[in-house]
Amino acid sequence: MKKITIAIDGFSSCGKSTMAKDLAREIGYIYIDSGAMYRAVTLYCLQNGLFLADGNVDLEALKQHMPKIRISFCLNETSGRPDTYLNGENVEQQIRTMEVSGKVSLIAAVGFVREALVRMQQELGKDKGIVMDGRDIGTTVFPDAELKIYVTASAEIRAQRRYDELKAKGEAVDFNEILFNVQERDRIDMTRAVSPLRKAADAIELDNSHMTIEEQKAWLKEQYLQAASK
Ligand code: C5P
Repeated sequence: MKKITIAIDGFSSCGKSTMAKDLAREIGYIYIDSGAMYRAVTLYCLQNGLFLADGNVDLEALKQHMPKIRISFCLNETSGRPDTYLNGENVEQQIRTMEVSGKVSLIAAVGFVREALVRMQQELGKDKGIVMDGRDIGTTVFPDAELKIYVTASAEIRAQRRYDELKAKGEAVDFNEILFNVQERDRIDMTRAVSPLRKAADAIELDNSHMTIEEQKAWLKEQYLQAASK
């Protein structure tokens, strides 16, 4: 079986990362959640007062700070999944809050942020044997990936999944606020000038609105087996 690159793109909260992480663990590949990297930069901006009073980010200040932002991943032995580190601190929980979700698409639309993170992502995947999920993995980060998946599901179903996830973690959440956040991120991600979310011409589309996690995992494994044995 040859070592390949697997790119999984799609809308927010559509279950990409769950199936990507599980496949990576099963087949012994590295898993990288590229969204976590955009979230970590957003958290850094919040912690360092880089958002202006009007809600936008101070671009000049962020440009100065970019070289100081270091993002890494380290396997969490308990969950068996990688945790995200920002300048040496484990921020896996902090990057998943509604505060970060509400700002991340603004940060992800900044050209110099994308250039820096795409470079890091390409470096992480240079030896193949990687599953990466995000918005532009099959189009920009790894346009030559042997397997590209594009995942979709309705906004309501995605908001419900996110609601259940946050509620299970004990966060006080409002369904309508989550639905608005999901729709707003879709809009910004699809209409931004740099690397907008779109399906790569050679990506396989999966609408998982009515699939269980187990069904998705089995489907993805099958796609991997086909692509890696070509
Ligand atoms: O995947 P997740 O929803 O955690 O990603 C958070 C945000 O990061 C997305 O809404 C999108 O704005 C941005 N993102 C991106 N490109 C990627 C991954 C994420 O623009 N490759």
